[in-house]
Amino acid sequence: MKTLVRNGQVWTENELRNVDLLISSLGKIEAIQDSGDAPQDFRGEIIDADGLLILPGAIDIHAHIQDAAETFYGGTCAAARGGVTTVIDMPPFQTVINHKTLMKRKAWGEQECVTDFGLTGGIVIDFSDLDHLDELVAAGVAQFKIFMLMNPPVKLLWEAVKKAAETGLRLTVHMEEPVCLGEVNWDDPLGFVKANPPAAENVAVAQLLEMARAAGAPIHVCHVSSGRTAELIDSHKAWGTSVTAETAPQYLLLNEEAYLEQGDRVIATPVLRKREDSEMLWQALQDGTIDCVITDHFLGALPNPGKPRPALKDAEPGIAGLETAYPLMLDAVLHGGRLGLSRLVEIMAARPAQLMKIDDRKGRIAVGMDADLVFIDPDTSWKIADLGENSRISTLPYEGWVLHTYNRRTMVRGKTVWDGEKILAERGWGRYCGAKII
Ligand SMILES: [Zn+2]
Repeated sequence: MKTLVRNGQVWTENELRNVDLLISSLGKIEAIQDSGDAPQDFRGEIIDADGLLILPGAIDIHAHIQDAAETFYGGTCAAARGGVTTVIDMPPFQTVINHKTLMKRKAWGEQECVTDFGLTGGIVIDFSDLDHLDELVAAGVAQFKIFMLMNPPVKLLWEAVKKAAETGLRLTVHMEEPVCLGEVNWDDPLGFVKANPPAAENVAVAQLLEMARAAGAPIHVCHVSSGRTAELIDSHKAWGTSVTAETAPQYLLLNEEAYLEQGDRVIATPVLRKREDSEMLWQALQDGTIDCVITDHFLGALPNPGKPRPALKDAEPGIAGLETAYPLMLDAVLHGGRLGLSRLVEIMAARPAQLMKIDDRKGRIAVGMDADLVFIDPDTSWKIADLGENSRISTLPYEGWVLHTYNRRTMVRGKTVWDGEKILAERGWGRYCGAKII
């Protein structure tokens, strides 16, 4: 059955236009046409989007959706609710390291996910994990990961960089140099911050980007938290290094003062930095130094509503972000004067689609693309609450924040998976989305 979306303001060709969208029975955008009445003989579903902005669904290239307490189903329900239509899963250590392990995880995701999904290779911790990574390329993987907090030998970093150059897989790295980290004094509310200084990130970034430059490898900086890191990336981009970078809402909207009030809810690495760092990250997002925004969604353990919050040292690290990342960013843009809608859509959808090499189907609203859409009410108000239903949101540091934009509908390939109140898609609606093979 075809679907006609009428009366919305659609983000297409880099502007908001009053047009109707005709969506094919296969979930592709078939036509973008002047707003008008539906033809008398139209037999499909008609959706009235009066008063709503229709934007591309977000593409999150760094989310842990089947790890610790999170699941493919729960995580992608949270994604659907938050307007994320494709999630690139970040697997646990040594999970996706050859064709066989990739196919196993892909099949699992296809049974469970309600949004489309892709996979990152890795996470590499041993030399032998590099041996069969080339098998991932033909199966549509675009990147593989190394996690420096596992203290990999420098030789492993170098071999991984060379593997990236050889295969074309982008090497995405959690860049913090372990020797720069200190012991945490948990009696000090800022002890966690003090033990995780920005130097750890800056030193790792300087080293890895030089390695990538020397080897001619594509490299990606995970969750940039420090302003100095943005400066290093900017320099390397100017020198022609093939570097891309991401940051997350928590590094833009929160800073180290959050440890005084939110404590256990903001225990994550890298740590939150100073207000000046956040400002530099906003600037870096604006000018293209940072390519995209991700969630780094991670659920260490299910929260226990009603139970006292844990002591800082007992808090599970990681922040749940899939339900709130796009709404928070939209609010900052539409009501906070940040970035502008054009840049927002670029960093949430178009650019991550390019990085994952899925931009032939995803990331834009245009004829022939998948109908992955969010329907945003731009002028309303709602409070981020302890919802607990989908992603067990009570671990979020944003509880109680009032936002002025709301996601009234999420579509994945033409199907409404979230209707503004509940999840409508069944398990397994999500499809594996692999890189185009050029
Ligand atoms: Zn992560």
